[in-house]
Amino acid sequence: MSPKLVLESIKKALGIKEDHMIISGPCSAESEEQVLNTCRLLADTGKVHMLRAGIWKPRTRPNSFEGMGEKALPWLIKAGKETGLPVTTEVANAQHVEICLKYGVDVLWIGARTTVSPFAVQEIADALKGVDIPVMVKNPINPDLELWVGALERINQSGIRKLAAIHRGYSSSELTSFRNAPMWDMAVHLKTMIPDLEIICDPSHIAGARDLVPLVAQKALDLHINGLMIESHHQPDAALSDAAQQLKPSAVGKMLSSLVYRKPSSSNSEFVDQLENLRGKIDEVDEKLLENLSIRMKIAEQIGQYKRENQVTILQVNRWSELVADRVAKGRALGLSENMLSTLLDLIHKESIERQNGSTV
Ligand code: PEP
Ligand code: MN
Repeated sequence: MSPKLVLESIKKALGIKEDHMIISGPCSAESEEQVLNTCRLLADTGKVHMLRAGIWKPRTRPNSFEGMGEKALPWLIKAGKETGLPVTTEVANAQHVEICLKYGVDVLWIGARTTVSPFAVQEIADALKGVDIPVMVKNPINPDLELWVGALERINQSGIRKLAAIHRGYSSSELTSFRNAPMWDMAVHLKTMIPDLEIICDPSHIAGARDLVPLVAQKALDLHINGLMIESHHQPDAALSDAAQQLKPSAVGKMLSSLVYRKPSSSNSEFVDQLENLRGKIDEVDEKLLENLSIRMKIAEQIGQYKRENQVTILQVNRWSELVADRVAKGRALGLSENMLSTLLDLIHKESIERQNGSTV
């Protein structure tokens, strides 16, 4: 898949010089006054490049506010015309696509609850055949990279080349201070798989709470994400959906001014030299790591053979539990995280067992 740089092309068309695309607007369009007020104030910050508002809202439980539907679309279109900014909204089925095209929405996005469903994504893809409109695909609710890539591919195969992804965090049973676990490695992985794909972060749905939004936004920028989608409401506490995470437009402006925007590289020669030097050290350490792993596996093979000759079972749980406890303690004393240590030891153990079995060469 070779997507076009959709954000770059929109920025170019609008004459935006910043490296990052900033999308902001209410979670849901609730009334004409709310959409226009919020969007005007956001445009006044001079830092927002695209306006968002949910017209149809996928809600976890029935009888919650499910969006105003088609009648709210003219409010968003009006806000776009008044401010001169492009507008984007979420589509979850073919009918949403048709309505958005009829009203002239500039960019569409597919929500996290839709990305999980190949049938729904295919329906949207079919409705988009022959249409030239940028589409942003949010990650699925569950941390399944294949589903995310699959949804992008379905839209791509319908002829849409202007594609971007939105990283909005993942549902997790683990208790964290965030509404959705960030799992940044998913976005990094996606970028590695499709290097030309621009990725936007939605810190609002990751954070779930107003005061955590700037922290998540900064982390996203530090990872060199291509833009941010931030929920904003002129009266956040009165919002009909996602009240806890929406920021006032003035708070969005303040946050955007205080974030540190890093560049992907620098031409400062001292910086370049020092970076080369440190990367050289990393290369050396990695080589030693690989050599040591190879030595370790060869020893495992020898042990396997020895055990076989002496009719002793391969798996010796006690020895392994003791070893893990010992290595985790030692690793932690060296400043390594328990999570990384246990994942790494697990992988090593799996491979060692296979080697001892003689099943891998
Ligand atoms: C939203 O952007 O308001 C939304 C519903 O997001 P998500 O699909 O990420 O839950
Ligand atoms: Mn929302």
